Amino acid sequence: MKLILLGAPGAGKGTQAEVICERFNIPTISTGNIIREALKSGTEMGIRAKSFVDAGKLVPDEVVIGIIQERLAKDDCSNGFVLDGFPRTIPQAEALDKMGIAIDKVIDIEVPDEVIVERMSGRRVCESCGASYHLVYNKPDVDGVCSKCGGTLVQRKDDHPDTVKERLKVYHDQTEPLKGYYSKQGKLYVVEGHEDVASTTKRVLAAIEA
Ligand code: ADP
Ligand code: AMP
Repeated sequence: MKLILLGAPGAGKGTQAEVICERFNIPTISTGNIIREALKSGTEMGIRAKSFVDAGKLVPDEVVIGIIQERLAKDDCSNGFVLDGFPRTIPQAEALDKMGIAIDKVIDIEVPDEVIVERMSGRRVCESCGASYHLVYNKPDVDGVCSKCGGTLVQRKDDHPDTVKERLKVYHDQTEPLKGYYSKQGKLYVVEGHEDVASTTKRVLAAIEA
């Protein structure tokens, strides 16, 4: 099963990807997590991406397309995968099609902008495995510690309210047109994501199994 999770930053893609990944035993591929790893380890790609990520802009298409090509070629992707945060532009979606990757479904998680801003301010992520938590809505078992791997939870620099506003603008301008792109291909499934995590998970799983 090859899935794409579409939605604004903070819509809950990472949170839902974790559930899907466990339930269907397929890997989650998050370009955001791959880029953050590269930033941390100071690779050439990380250095190139830093100014874009910090400003809430998208990293250039050729960089992320290269990341995806390399990642999808690995053995663990042969039974399928969940893409979280890719594609984010029409050229990225076209590149995926050109690679001959047959996506089964695109699940679009819809959350109003005002809910997003609140979610992002309380988001904490595991610096080891990238799992996502919220100080109020999705608490870890122990404060500051990842319930999945024991890693340390940190706040992302790009979750500052001003950067979040820019990221939402970029989403509406450059990523939202993907809804039309995948709707034309008959692959788009729209799911309301403004309720709690469990309700959203029910809707996402129903869309996958539809
Ligand atoms: P994305 O991967 O789309 O950027 P995340 O999965 O990281 O979004 O979710 C953003 C924040 O909102 C996180 O802090 C997460 O714990 C929280 N969150 C996710 N889904 C819900 C939900 N349905 N209700 C409340 N908070 C949520
Ligand atoms: P995310 O963790 O998905 O919110 O991604 C964090 C940041 O990484 C984004 O704000 C972008 O700067 C960059 N990024 C992640 N995925 C992509 C992508 N598909 N295209 C361009 N930039 C991306």
